[in-house]
Amino acid sequence: MEKVKERKFSKPSNFYSLSTQEFGKWWTAKGMGIGPHKRLQRGIVRGSYQAGPPSEHPEISSHVLKSLKEEFTFDLPKIFERRASKDGTIKYLFELEDGKKVESVAIPFHKKYTLCLSSQVGCAMGCTFCFTGTQGLSRHLESHEIVGQYLAVWRDLNRDKAHPMTPNIVFMGQGEPLHNFEGLDKAIRYFMETPGLTLGPRQITVSTVGFLAGLERWSELPSVNLAISLHSPFEEERTKLIPMNKAYSIERIFEILRGLPWGRRKLINFEYLLLGEENDSKEHAKALAKLISEFPSLVNLIPFNPYPDSPYKRPSDEQVAKFKSWLVEERVRTMVRTTKGDEILAACGQLANKFK
Ligand code: SF4
Repeated sequence: MEKVKERKFSKPSNFYSLSTQEFGKWWTAKGMGIGPHKRLQRGIVRGSYQAGPPSEHPEISSHVLKSLKEEFTFDLPKIFERRASKDGTIKYLFELEDGKKVESVAIPFHKKYTLCLSSQVGCAMGCTFCFTGTQGLSRHLESHEIVGQYLAVWRDLNRDKAHPMTPNIVFMGQGEPLHNFEGLDKAIRYFMETPGLTLGPRQITVSTVGFLAGLERWSELPSVNLAISLHSPFEEERTKLIPMNKAYSIERIFEILRGLPWGRRKLINFEYLLLGEENDSKEHAKALAKLISEFPSLVNLIPFNPYPDSPYKRPSDEQVAKFKSWLVEERVRTMVRTTKGDEILAACGQLANKFK
């Protein structure tokens, strides 16, 4: 059984930072029998009561409900702005307790949504194709701020009870998730273990540019999906796109990947941002196929969406199709990601508080 860290409850902490085990511990310390606390946690997480716990509950004494309200806050990040795109994508700008802002995006897929969550305010990786990368890192998000984005968006989507199913998650918003390893780990466990959520590991994807200190600890995380943002099979060119590649080279990333335990059905997703006349040649496709050939993998091609003053351009649809066919010739499983939400700058690498 996982050891629960000792935690002090001297001042109000955010309820959504509390694991089920921690909440159980608090609950039993109040002299309550185990059982109803999971139903209560489920109701609070799912927003069944207005905000936070109910004032009365048939199974729970009023003094425990009172303590709960005194000892915890139930605040979610505040929706500062919400923008919907014609294709159904919805972009949210959240304001955090300290006034900092982060963005999340809800992307519709059939009848279900995938939520693209941020893990940091800004980002230290400095990718030259990314809006967020131009800002630098402001701070890591706390786990409850990551969970809070999810709950706030889901509640918003589910206002008319239209989306009761738990949305999937991709960590592809602002920030390099593995740079905020502790916050990410705690949030993933929350999503997977908390009554009312209990997402499966296949519902969660962590996308990384290959932040080595985090990637080396990959097997400490629950077995969620891994996506490596590769963007070029050539070291020098990749360093131009992702300056951190100088320290975290492709060679080193692949060494670590080789050492990880890959289950039989597990695929590594390789994200490849196609930049017009930069990394979309046949030579790139052949080198990419060779590089990843040792892993069961899926390549996601993402045609770049230019943003104002971006130094790169979008490849033509014809070039995207050619690049895909070159990979398929090499027997690489390849998908082209439809770039939803680009009219509101909600596509990959375009999140940077650009609502104004
Ligand atoms: S693409 Fe991702 S890792 Fe790179 S700067 Fe942008 S947010 Fe950071």
